[in-house]
Amino acid sequence: MNASQTDSILTGQTESHLSPVSESKARLHQAVVIPLENLRKKAHRAGFELEVVSGFRSFEAQVAIWNAKASGQRAVLDARGKVLDISQLSPRELVYSILHWSALPGASRHHWGTDLDVIDRLSVPPGYSVQLTEAEVRPGGMFGALHDWLDRHMHEEGFFRPYQRDMGGVQPERWHLSHSPTAQPLFKAHNPALLEAAIAGSALTLKDEILAELPEIFDRFFLRISDAPRV
Ligand SMILES: [Zn+2]
Repeated sequence: MNASQTDSILTGQTESHLSPVSESKARLHQAVVIPLENLRKKAHRAGFELEVVSGFRSFEAQVAIWNAKASGQRAVLDARGKVLDISQLSPRELVYSILHWSALPGASRHHWGTDLDVIDRLSVPPGYSVQLTEAEVRPGGMFGALHDWLDRHMHEEGFFRPYQRDMGGVQPERWHLSHSPTAQPLFKAHNPALLEAAIAGSALTLKDEILAELPEIFDRFFLRISDAPRV
């Protein structure tokens, strides 16, 4: 893989490295498909139906999410999950509020296809729409048993949780897994200059405020992850 292809993967601007995932509409990095299939089989034998509800997401898709939140078309939640009145926030406060739950386009691990959000399809009641909330994934929650099992077994196939704990950036997201051997080289290759170039050329709302805060954002919301195993 050459440097410009890596740069395009890092910022979600290519799909050439992706493969389909069984029993899911999501696509993932081709190197993640077999480890995931192995994990799904083990989970199945343990009584779970591990389903990927979100995998690769492009730069443009992340821009659409960001702009919908920045313009008030989509709810912005505080760190505890309560809806914020964004008319009361300064532009800078709005940027940091969105970042609690949504990655900055160009800095989302979902761009790489190495990261995925998972559920146990078997434990979803009929008619229930999955939210991906703390209540669903905590011990005793709808997906708690799957995640307790993943705590014990995901490492066997190279997966870990980059958002396991509150590190002062992205909120804990127990549903979000990452394939360490594929993701870690990308994590190490990413840098603020590459992110700045992607954002400067985009139609992102609050772009000037974001560019002014970029070193801080890169540190808090990209670099601070938990529990990355050595590869
Ligand atoms: Zn995720």
